[in-house]
Amino acid sequence: MAEYHGITVETEKGTHTVFPELCKGCGLCIAKCPKKTLTWADYLGAYGTPSVRVTNGCNACGTCQMVCPDCAIVVVRKAKAR
Ligand code: SF4
Ligand code: SF4
Repeated sequence: MAEYHGITVETEKGTHTVFPELCKGCGLCIAKCPKKTLTWADYLGAYGTPSVRVTNGCNACGTCQMVCPDCAIVVVRKAKAR
């Protein structure tokens, strides 16, 4: 089974993981992020074009995970403290 190597960033509201080996660099996640907290990365994706990375302010909404056609993003939201 293929194993993909994710780049995980801890954000204020959870964790944000990008799998560059799956990312085709389409930019859809950047276009759809409501917080404008995704940007092009200096690491490359599946086709040798820039992948994406998360920046400060991500609210872990999961939109980028939902819209990515290649399942290259996984967002995990922290459980709310009670
Ligand atoms: S989880 Fe939401 S706010 Fe965070 S990078 Fe993805 S689309 Fe943007
Ligand atoms: S939507 Fe997916 S494939 Fe497209 S740039 Fe974002 S992470 Fe890469």
